[in-house]
Amino acid sequence: MQPPRLRILATGGTIAGSAGSALERGYRPGQIGAADLLAAAKGLGLSATFEGREIAAIGSQDIGWREWDALHREIEAALTDEGVDGVIVTHGTDTAEETAFLLDLTLSAGKPVVLVGAMRPADAVGSDGMRNLANAVRVAGDPAAAGRGVLVVMSDQVFAAIDVRKAATGGAEAFRGFPRGPIANVTPTSLDWFGPAERTGRPARFAWPAALPKVPILYAYAGMDKGEVACMLSGAQGSVLAGLGQGNAPASVIEALAASGVPVVRSSRVDQGSVDRNLEVDDDALGFIAARGLGPAKARILLQVLLASGISDPAAMQAEFDRR
Ligand code: ASP
Repeated sequence: MQPPRLRILATGGTIAGSAGSALERGYRPGQIGAADLLAAAKGLGLSATFEGREIAAIGSQDIGWREWDALHREIEAALTDEGVDGVIVTHGTDTAEETAFLLDLTLSAGKPVVLVGAMRPADAVGSDGMRNLANAVRVAGDPAAAGRGVLVVMSDQVFAAIDVRKAATGGAEAFRGFPRGPIANVTPTSLDWFGPAERTGRPARFAWPAALPKVPILYAYAGMDKGEVACMLSGAQGSVLAGLGQGNAPASVIEALAASGVPVVRSSRVDQGSVDRNLEVDDDALGFIAARGLGPAKARILLQVLLASGISDPAAMQAEFDRR
């Protein structure tokens, strides 16, 4: 069997980061270009061939529409290119869940598409970049990775885009899946899927939007005042509440959100647990949408895509949040 032909799309992040010294704490993401990353991947001696393109060389805290649009276009091209078996996107970890979920919603479930990052820069002692990249090569080169949507590989685990979250600010094992944990364990020489692919042959859930509307996230806290709602919602086409517990907020905030005139998705600032309809907040009466298993960052991406797709009826929106 011929080795898998993989296309690496580089965007920057700590996996391409440099501190200038093995023991320096401060560092800059996105310093190592696509050509060097490619050379490093080739140097691993894995059974795969590589080609690469640079989309950006930034920390993923700076990622936005321009990079996402280019990335989507490049992946679409790779999916129809007969010379490509799988795609690896090297990416910062801060917003990996947002990029992965946006791509997951807007790509067909064809060849493997794998996002990978690192928690320590390339020149740090104990850098996890090549470990993670080697694991990503193993996943992207596996035909059984197809039909699972966009995947995120961190440490020795594979997560589905819809589940994955960055759950720690430091340490190599910083990613978790919720409500599902990892869907496979991986090393450069082994890959154990915990179940079959569920999306084989499925087309993209949504067409790639022409733009993404403004949707702020409001972080709720004890003593929050309704004045902040007006301030944050200026010019917004929708909003996401990162609420307390089951998506709660002080009564005056809930009232202000209901009066805002734009779709409101209630999610939770708590890391795990879903937000369901009509527990302490009467979503039916207020016209709100419950984020269910999606955290605020992913709830925002889905709301943006829904609005960009012309879906604004609360029941139709809720159906999309209920879906997995
Ligand atoms: N701030 C970096 C980024 O997201 C962190 C990382 O990659 O781990 O690009």
